Amino acid sequence: MENCIFCKIIRGEIPAQKIYEDKDIIAFLDVRPVNIGHALVLPKAHYLSIYDTPDQLLAALMPVIKKLSIAIKSAVDADGINVEMNNGPAAGQLVFHTHIHIVPRFNDDGFKHWRGARGYSDQEMEQVQNKIKAALE
Ligand code: AMP
Ligand code: ZN
Repeated sequence: MENCIFCKIIRGEIPAQKIYEDKDIIAFLDVRPVNIGHALVLPKAHYLSIYDTPDQLLAALMPVIKKLSIAIKSAVDADGINVEMNNGPAAGQLVFHTHIHIVPRFNDDGFKHWRGARGYSDQEMEQVQNKIKAALE
């Protein structure tokens, strides 16, 4: 927490282009945007990622994300919005303070989504389904 860059922004020790703040949540522009208007929305309390963030805080984030998505889309005249969260180094998380990206998208921005070309071998899909259902119990 002491050295967390987002906690430093929340404490006012580092500047940020804030676009939203309430008692539990803050949002500011990403300093290295994928596209203009790219914003980060985060709880003020320091949690590492989705896994340890309390349910009620995650629930409180989504209406703010919705409100900001509408405002950002309008402000930068985006064609679409990606709402995205990286959890863990393998998923590309670099800052270990729970945050959600709002990324404005443009028809001609050239970014490509995953192709999803892997497919499943025989029985594999059902096995994964069963494993996930078992993990939920
Ligand atoms: P992630 O890979 O999901 O952990 O993303 C972290 C994001 O934080 C990156 O997109 C960075 O550009 C952004 N970032 C890092 N430091 C700052 C900062 N001081 N102000 C605003 N955004 C930042
Ligand atoms: Zn933090």
